[in-house]
Amino acid sequence: MNSKVRVRFAPSPTGGLHLGGVRTVLFNYLFAKHHGGDFILRIEDTDQSRFVAGAEKYILDTLAWCGLTPDESPVHGGKFGPYRQSERKVNYKHYADQLIAQGNAYYAFDTAADLEAKRAAVPNFQYSRAHRMEMKNSISLPENEVAELLKNNTPYVIRIKIPDNETIEFVDEIRGTVSFDSNAVDDKVLLKADGMPTYHLAVVVDDHLMEITHAFRGEEWLPSAPVHILLWKYLFGLDLMPKWAHLPLILKPDGNGKLSKRDGERLGFPVFAMDWTDPNTNARTIGFKERGFLPEAFVNLLAMLGWNDGTDKEIFSLEELIAGFSLDRVHKGGAKFDYEKAKWFNQEWIKKMDNESLAELVKPYLVEADIVIHEHSYLVKVIGLIKERCHLLPDFVTQSSFFFGAPSIIDTASIAPKWDVKKQNFFDELSAQYAEKTAAGEITFPALELESAFKELATKHEIKPGELMLPLRIMLVGGKFGPGVFEIIETIELKDATSRIKHCLSILSAN
Ligand code: GLU
Repeated sequence: MNSKVRVRFAPSPTGGLHLGGVRTVLFNYLFAKHHGGDFILRIEDTDQSRFVAGAEKYILDTLAWCGLTPDESPVHGGKFGPYRQSERKVNYKHYADQLIAQGNAYYAFDTAADLEAKRAAVPNFQYSRAHRMEMKNSISLPENEVAELLKNNTPYVIRIKIPDNETIEFVDEIRGTVSFDSNAVDDKVLLKADGMPTYHLAVVVDDHLMEITHAFRGEEWLPSAPVHILLWKYLFGLDLMPKWAHLPLILKPDGNGKLSKRDGERLGFPVFAMDWTDPNTNARTIGFKERGFLPEAFVNLLAMLGWNDGTDKEIFSLEELIAGFSLDRVHKGGAKFDYEKAKWFNQEWIKKMDNESLAELVKPYLVEADIVIHEHSYLVKVIGLIKERCHLLPDFVTQSSFFFGAPSIIDTASIAPKWDVKKQNFFDELSAQYAEKTAAGEITFPALELESAFKELATKHEIKPGELMLPLRIMLVGGKFGPGVFEIIETIELKDATSRIKHCLSILSAN
């Protein structure tokens, strides 16, 4: 076997990618890159009935957005291709036949109606040792009858013959030794009547042919492990089997069970990586990307759902994750998803990002909100002033709109109760001062100068500056938010500040 680490993400293209799926990609990717290995994307599309148009492209787009580029994939190519299982159909039958020849698998001729009747008659029916002999297969039927059925091209599936009374064991890289009682495992279908393999056969054959050394997948695949282990044993030998790790579940915020798409809908947060529109129903599920998450933040928060480096450090770049990742720091227990924490990660990454790059990302949101940007450098400056306050990219719209035009809604109700003549006089004089300076060609001043002039005027009017700050903010911004008021004035300049103050004064005096 190749000694180079080779891992794979092997999704079935059935819809959008749940954040648990992206975390599976991430842990595979980090492990591979930490060890200088390869990350392979293999599309497991053997179940044609579950195939969804657009899902493969969605997966590729998601990986590209996250910066988790496969070394080999249906589009990146590679020497172990093709990377879609539907295009590898010729590979599988041979192994199914080998299993039959070895006595580890058998033909089953039961029709859909036979199976249905059995299910109706036997509660919790499992096609396994308990009922195998009651069914129509090459173990229960006499040899000549089987030969006849095969000769007549009677449709059949091939099932694995799970051995009786065996303990099937493997060492999970996260959980340690895991064992299963073979008597509780059913005879899974390996090859379907249409000649397509099922997931169980295809995953084992392809992990072998693609020389996969490590396979990390969601905990929900643990029950399939005994079937895969037996197939490895029968076909290739257990010493060649990849090292397995079953990643802990991502749990609902209250810790009660696996986080589902429906939880996101119910609680108002994304669960998919990117927006996904179901081509059959046109139903759209929102994604982290379109909600305004940065890919750096998304990757970072996913890594922390189940892993840490043993310190309190929470902010990691992809490079830092690659350098620090190890499986022994992946928790066994499920990780609760906390949307507020997810937004905190995004805020931290927004703060880290340079203003120029942020401007590029934010621009489409502003354009969408009909905000007119006259100068790019102005936008960059505004971004620098407000980015600490933004958790998600769309927050830049609300936090910045007043920099691009006077606010349309002004919360004068918050000023009115404490409004009096003294304040009125103060703001009359302040706006007159600003207007005078503007007329003299003085467009703006640095925030610090504006602040000291403001304080001086407050002293003259015998009002504490603190009492004037909220009215000033509301006059400029429309509400109780935004960065420092003098930074705002410096940025929007004296002329605009004057007209906003005057406009608000006219509303207040009209009341
Ligand atoms: N095709 C499986 C899925 O959709 C792959 C599971 C595995 O990694 O073995 O997740």
